Amino acid sequence: MKILIVNAGSSSLKYQLVDMDGEKMLAKGLIERIGMPEYGHHECKIGGEKVLDWKDGRILSHVEACQMMLAALTDKEYGCIKDMSEIGAVGHRVLHGGSQITESVIITPEVEKVIEDNIPLGPLHNRANLQGIQACKAVMPDTPMVAVFDTAFHQTMPPKAYMYGVPYEYYEKLHVRRYGFHGTSHRFVSKRTAEFLGKDPKELKMIVCHLGNGSSLSAVNGGKCVDTSMGLTPLEGVIMGTRSGVMDPAVLQFICNSEKIDINEMLNICNQKSGLVGISGVSNDMRDVDTAASEGNERAILARDMLIYGIKKYIGAYAAAMNGVDVIVFTAGIGENNCRLREDVMKDMDFMGAKLDVEKNNELAWPHVHEAIISAPDSKVTICVIPTNEEIAIARDTKELVEAASK
Ligand code: AMP
Repeated sequence: MKILIVNAGSSSLKYQLVDMDGEKMLAKGLIERIGMPEYGHHECKIGGEKVLDWKDGRILSHVEACQMMLAALTDKEYGCIKDMSEIGAVGHRVLHGGSQITESVIITPEVEKVIEDNIPLGPLHNRANLQGIQACKAVMPDTPMVAVFDTAFHQTMPPKAYMYGVPYEYYEKLHVRRYGFHGTSHRFVSKRTAEFLGKDPKELKMIVCHLGNGSSLSAVNGGKCVDTSMGLTPLEGVIMGTRSGVMDPAVLQFICNSEKIDINEMLNICNQKSGLVGISGVSNDMRDVDTAASEGNERAILARDMLIYGIKKYIGAYAAAMNGVDVIVFTAGIGENNCRLREDVMKDMDFMGAKLDVEKNNELAWPHVHEAIISAPDSKVTICVIPTNEEIAIARDTKELVEAASK
């Protein structure tokens, strides 16, 4: 079965076509500037080679973007499928399933309603995800569709981990609570880590460090998420590429009052202009921050130190919350590639029995990244690197649900 994976943003649409026979990626594309006044852009790679780099006109809607995607995949000259009947199902990445959705589901009008109902909790993403679903349905009306939610894996958290200390009525009335994000990655990586170690996930206390442009950590006990660092929105947690991470909410009021800006502008600053880029003044990209830090740039050094310190604190907190930890796993752009950062995070963690094998850790850096154990033989805690693959996780869920439904 060939599965199309769609990740729709407010003005973009990313897609991948995967042949589930061998889980081989056939095509990958990005359509940008949908619905914008300027010209759009459609780039498509088939078999790893760029076959399309189109920027010749406006893209008016997500429906038009879906038509362009299908046209590229079925193109007579460079396409990889004859016609769209070869696409067995579409898996949609969706940000927010609220409290209602705890796992991936076949898309029905009820599921679309849940995505719509949760627009207030993920305004930019959920609205766009829904547009992507509706556009795909318009051009592929007979193809089954599945929604895979970023929040679903974290729905096993107990109330003591997901509640905020504001009056209970805000939870009842507005559903204010921690939801957590990157759930598809945390689920994929925690499951794969147990397989890789040849262990039953039920026996493991694990801390998953998903460190990328957006970063989140989760505590996974017995295969179930018991806590995670992102909150009602992806803003909470460690400092990220452009996000501030957790802080005293009074900081917001203080800056708003002092600078005469409103809370929306302030949140925009917290989401887009804070974190690594805000502190370093250099970049949101960890590679640039690293380079600047190694050249002695004080603010880049501080940004790097803040990230490392934040990760350490979450690891300590989650180990305490689970009464120990068996495995610490690093994943995503920074977690997989940046051995210096892993070394600095794991420095002085021997108090909890975690000891890195520095040589093994150094061997595992871009472009030599693969699944590996990087802890010392006498470390009580296994430390490893497991590359994440959210697309494959979405494709697997989609295939499983569609096959089960057709039985
Ligand atoms: P992600 O959001 O998972 O794509 O991760 C993006 C982050 O990963 C950026 O901060 C990059 O600096 C970092 N990253 C990606 N590739 C590498 C690499 N080869 N070496 C070091 N850091 C990398």
